[in-house]
Amino acid sequence: MLLRMSTLFLRTLREDPADAEVPSHKLLVRAGYVRRVAPGIYSWLPLGKIVLENVARVVREEMDAMGGQEVLFPALLPREYYEATGRWTEYGDTLFRLKDRKGGDYLLGPTHEELFTDMVKGEYSSYKDYPVILYQIQTKYRDEARPRAGILRGREFLMKDSYSFDLDDDGLKRSYELHREAYIKLFDRLGIDYKIVFAVSGAMGGSASEEFLAPCETGEDTFVACHNCGYAANAEAVVTPAPPAVTAGHPALEVLDTPDTPTIESLVSLVNERYGLGITAADTLKNIVVKVRTPGSDQTETLIVGLPGDREVDFKRLEASLSPGIPEIFEAADFERHPGLVRGYIGPQVLKELGIRYLVDPRVVAGSAWVTGANEAGRHAAHVVAGRDFEADGTIEAAEVRAGDDCPRCGHRLSIDRGIEIGHIFQLGRKYADAASLDALGPDGKPIRVTMGSYGVGVSRAVAVLAEQKHDELGLVWPREVAPADVHIVGTGKENQVEVAVRLAEELQAKGLRVLVDDRAGVSPGVKFKDAELLGVPTILIIGRGLAQGVAELRDRASGVKEEIPLSEAAARVLAAAVPEA
Ligand code: ATP
Ligand code: MG
Repeated sequence: MLLRMSTLFLRTLREDPADAEVPSHKLLVRAGYVRRVAPGIYSWLPLGKIVLENVARVVREEMDAMGGQEVLFPALLPREYYEATGRWTEYGDTLFRLKDRKGGDYLLGPTHEELFTDMVKGEYSSYKDYPVILYQIQTKYRDEARPRAGILRGREFLMKDSYSFDLDDDGLKRSYELHREAYIKLFDRLGIDYKIVFAVSGAMGGSASEEFLAPCETGEDTFVACHNCGYAANAEAVVTPAPPAVTAGHPALEVLDTPDTPTIESLVSLVNERYGLGITAADTLKNIVVKVRTPGSDQTETLIVGLPGDREVDFKRLEASLSPGIPEIFEAADFERHPGLVRGYIGPQVLKELGIRYLVDPRVVAGSAWVTGANEAGRHAAHVVAGRDFEADGTIEAAEVRAGDDCPRCGHRLSIDRGIEIGHIFQLGRKYADAASLDALGPDGKPIRVTMGSYGVGVSRAVAVLAEQKHDELGLVWPREVAPADVHIVGTGKENQVEVAVRLAEELQAKGLRVLVDDRAGVSPGVKFKDAELLGVPTILIIGRGLAQGVAELRDRASGVKEEIPLSEAAARVLAAAVPEA
């Protein structure tokens, strides 16, 4: 491959795009890799397309190496497949739905479990056919609530999705392990820094679902890690250990006058000063009202979540706990319809009477005592004991997880970081096989229900993650495996520098390297150097003023190391940098 900057379809920008907030978005736009079409919808320009293909190639090679077979499904799908599994409605507003000219319902595939299941059912019938792993690298559509950061969270994006089909749980575990190993290899090859974290609560022993997260300040996922035992989990999957309960010796419930206590802090200081309770915010029970909407309908249920007053609700944890139900804000108009709920003074004592479902944080164990609302304006209640003064309908993981919280596995302190999900492996089990009655005929003539796994890699997202993790103040710094070229040769000067640069480029191309050469006339050296740094090709070779003395400059983009080398050695040095083992 030989790309000439004089004809390459590329315009770099000196200014950051106005709508870009994170470095990857700014840089990929400025360096001319992607262009915005609409929110969450992007086009790929030549250099971007090369990087995207490189990522896809690495993913494909590792999927093939572990025995996966590539197929390709349409993105445009009829409703019936998703109707059968309930996902036509369960997927909620994130699903792109559309109609054809005859009024038939269609969707743009957000992920393809149904179709893969159906394909296997169509082709395979005997136990001897199994196991099988199929995958595709294909464009997915999701009407994301918050498309963000360019291609990081798109509404159209490229995903590798694969599905394993096995006859028993051991087989599923094997297929899952194969994927886990393949993901480790492919993310290592891509040069992404990542952590593998539990994605589903209760998965502490086994590994029914794990995510590959790229640690990154701008990430939307929060994950915890324990440096003592190695436990790592997405915040949504963190299980709160229940503290031991004090069951005896609580005084009777007491209603207190607490005027002007709009915040937890003001409540705590008033009850401590006026009533000598000696409590902290963690001893108060705060009750948050939400509406939970059933996807695909306007029906909502009122739900109250009780949690210690020193914790905020983590909306993503709440969402994950209520899924497929969708939590929505309880508005002033909703309060008007529920006169029993006194805004700011809600206590769980009356919820049974009001017929409102009440779920509590796992710290609210039976026997624990709280200061909470008295369901009257200006009043709170003290010594409100769980199991004595109120009954919860269950527990819910909705409270924020904080650095320093107890590790659910070993009790040490957890640390917290942010990351971007780049891959997800998941033991699905028989949900989709049940919906499609996917059976294999066993050796005894009896049907065996097939068990499945589903596994995703964000291919286009990986490009953004690499830009996010690998850049400096000058521009992008691609790992070699995904870089748009092995070497960027810059010819600058009024003599025959450009000619020499092009000749070297041709020579290196003939040796199998992917070469980008800056052969533009009338462009200043400064602009050419800036572009080379912005574009991020790992090796930069400059044919400039030193040409007359037979000297070129070799730059390593990542380390910034610059070296004067004899022109006669330039080709060999670039080759050695590009193919270290050769
Ligand atoms: P997220 O939590 O980030 O929304 P998800 O859990 O919905 O992701 P999966 O359904 O597991 O994602 O999809 C598999 C992979 O596809 C993810 O690990 C991620 O890398 C990628 N992906 C998901 N949504 C998007 C998106 N909107 N834009 C780009 N890549 C995405
Ligand atoms: Mg996921």
